[in-house]
Amino acid sequence: MRREIPASDKNRFLQRISGILYPGRCVLCDRILEKSAQMVCRDCRPLVRFIEEPRCCRCGRPLESDTEAYCENCKIHPRLFERGFAPFVYDGAVKEAIMRLKYGHRAENARFFAKSMYVCGKPFLTETAPQALVPVPIHRERRMRRGYNQAELLAEALSDLTGIPVVKNRILRVRGTAPQKELGMQQRKKNLAGAFRITGETGRDRMIPARVLIVDDIFTTGSTIDTLAALLLRAGAEKVYFSCAAIAAGFSV
Ligand SMILES: [Zn+2]
Ligand SMILES: [Zn+2]
Repeated sequence: MRREIPASDKNRFLQRISGILYPGRCVLCDRILEKSAQMVCRDCRPLVRFIEEPRCCRCGRPLESDTEAYCENCKIHPRLFERGFAPFVYDGAVKEAIMRLKYGHRAENARFFAKSMYVCGKPFLTETAPQALVPVPIHRERRMRRGYNQAELLAEALSDLTGIPVVKNRILRVRGTAPQKELGMQQRKKNLAGAFRITGETGRDRMIPARVLIVDDIFTTGSTIDTLAALLLRAGAEKVYFSCAAIAAGFSV
């Protein structure tokens, strides 16, 4: 008589096979992990440090002292988003891990950053209670070249953890923009103006929930988030928040 192999044994077997074929890599140093269930190796674990207080009350950037409420960027630029946060400073091993997520075909790194956004942002998410997650769209051609949009992967993984739905395919990046990091603030604004478009802006299709959380990989000056926030506010959102995987520490114009 043939004996059925229990499902749990099958799963363990499949896990072992896939672990051999596709060994897990440490998100932060990219070395192969001993245990594929982990995301960060033992050596890199001390590098997982969330941003602590004092932080900018608007964008969550770390501040040098708690005498100020806002960072230099938020003092200069009027913001359209309410407020936001990132678990990490965009620097060192975190920076390299995000670069691999964007350009090095390490799509799986999104899971680690979404988990960090979830753990670090629990009080924020409870307080602001967003009804939808909106990943910052990338242009169709860039998406085809890369195979995915990293902001969408972050939003989907965050949605799995929070149960908040992702608004997908409603907001388009209508034209490719020059890489933001090489531009000054005024140039950035010009570069972004008209970069996003929302589909179905009439009738019921127009409905964007009242409280929206924009999700992206990196926050530098915030001009991308602000441009998208303007569009969402026009389309019916009342409060727009954001969460990014990492935020640039210093002042940038
Ligand atoms: Zn490591
Ligand atoms: Zn700020």
